[in-house]
Amino acid sequence: MYNNIGDKIKAVAKTVGIVGIVISIIIGIFTYAIIGSLIGGGGVIIGLAIMVGGSIASWMGTWILYSWGDIVDNVQQINETLTKRDLETKPQSSRLLQSAKSSQKAKAPAKWTCPKCGEQNNANAHYCINCFTEKP
Ligand SMILES: [Zn+2]
Repeated sequence: MYNNIGDKIKAVAKTVGIVGIVISIIIGIFTYAIIGSLIGGGGVIIGLAIMVGGSIASWMGTWILYSWGDIVDNVQQINETLTKRDLETKPQSSRLLQSAKSSQKAKAPAKWTCPKCGEQNNANAHYCINCFTEKP
């Protein structure tokens, strides 16, 4: 269901970009027509500004969406590669042992000793609670 979600995001990015540019042009033409009929001129610049500005804005928005799709794609690929390698190289028993070990670690995180004052700090603390020395 969530396979190739990166590709889907990229496809959406392209569609959004094109739709955004089309809408900007339409709004620009309407603005030009309305202002033109109201004041009889001067609408060209505003209409063009909306067309160009809106198109550039949608185009740039597309980059962000597209790069997000690219990131999702890459993460998925890395994940698949790692999972495959894990399955190929490690026998079932050692994998089970390792997952047991890591869940144990999660329950009781190892403490670290401050190199400056010797204070025992929690594993998730980035600085010593006693002297604020950074975790080594
Ligand atoms: Zn300390």
